[in-house]
Amino acid sequence: MSQLSPLLKQATPVVVDHGEGVYLYDVDGNRHLDFTAGIGVTSTGHCHPRVVAAAQEQVGKLIHGQYTTVMHQPLRRLTERLGDVLPPGLDSLFYVNSGSEAVEAALRLSRQATGRPNVVVFEGGFHGRTVAAASMTTSGTRFSSGISPLMSGVYVAPFPFAYRYGWDEQTATKFALQELDYLFATQSAPGDIAAFFIEPVLGEGGYVPANTEFLAGLRQRADEHGIMLVLDEVQTGFGRTGKFWGHEHFDVRPDIVITAKGLASGFPLSAIAAPTELMAKAWPGSQGGTYGGNAVACAAALATLDVIQDEGLVENAAEQGRRLIDGARSVADKHPEIGDVRGLGLMVGSEFVTADGKADPETAKAAQQTAAKKGLLLLTCGAHMNVVRMIPPLVVNAEQVDAALDIWADVVAEVTG
Ligand code: PMP
Repeated sequence: MSQLSPLLKQATPVVVDHGEGVYLYDVDGNRHLDFTAGIGVTSTGHCHPRVVAAAQEQVGKLIHGQYTTVMHQPLRRLTERLGDVLPPGLDSLFYVNSGSEAVEAALRLSRQATGRPNVVVFEGGFHGRTVAAASMTTSGTRFSSGISPLMSGVYVAPFPFAYRYGWDEQTATKFALQELDYLFATQSAPGDIAAFFIEPVLGEGGYVPANTEFLAGLRQRADEHGIMLVLDEVQTGFGRTGKFWGHEHFDVRPDIVITAKGLASGFPLSAIAAPTELMAKAWPGSQGGTYGGNAVACAAALATLDVIQDEGLVENAAEQGRRLIDGARSVADKHPEIGDVRGLGLMVGSEFVTADGKADPETAKAAQQTAAKKGLLLLTCGAHMNVVRMIPPLVVNAEQVDAALDIWADVVAEVTG
């Protein structure tokens, strides 16, 4: 008899039978409030009827079109439709299947378009698990340990993570930009740098929003030195932060946007978007893959866009996100074991620390496990895995947010008591 590889770690013992909206139902009939959304994927909730219908209809027509062989309708329609939501000027799309592959697509594009070898990433950033993406990931050594040699040409600059430094946001930002300039002078000349890769909100790195001044500093340096500013919106895109794209909070112009996760409500689909002139500098045929731009996934993405628009899910994410972060802050106010509550929209993290301010992954893990026993599914993140994150589907309502917060208050009292 065979079994799942022990290299796969599951955060909960739940065995799911089916999902509906913000709930997962296990094989014993128990209902779980899913504040993980499959790591920020099921934006429209589990099995939204319109997504299900679109996928079912497409399955009966064409499952696999193979986009390096033929064009198909869902791919054509999705490409047209994404034009309505993409930042101005980013009018060319290329599709793959996962966030990591899309990160690699952006890496290849930026290297081919600039003819430069290096990239700069920012401390705490997560860009994926394939070897190139893992080489660009600094949210925890668990993602790169034991797989060296990693890809060369990756330079790491600080992210303005004010809480970690114990500074205010402005000081952290000034420091991070100064260090970037120092990196230009000491490690990689800016003329050798193809791209900056950054998440508008560090995801796996602990739910830390960037800020307007920092991203303006990157934009200015990118313009001055001909560096591409690549925004990894894999987790922050598609309404998650209460705006369609996370970077809209910071008024910054990207050269390349990477999207995945929420894009197709759970079907494997990812994309990079860039101006056509930039895409035209990549070498035709140098990218692709067997499954990229799958027809059923594209049909699901089209339905996802309809649902986001018709149900006002971006606005809902902003409203419920405020309710969620306010509630999480009230819980933290009563428990000094939670040192910081951060996030944007429906990305909310609570950071657990010891009395002397050190990371406390044990209590974070106990909170996540205790919540699971009480019917609330959560995940941890952060370099030390001491941040408990809440990322419900964007369809979550006020009652469900309050129900989660009630459980969360009990959980935190129990694990810190
Ligand atoms: N970038 C970011 C910002 C992510 O959050 C993730 C996934 N957590 C990835 C890239 C990698 O995506 P995937 O797991 O689909 O390869």
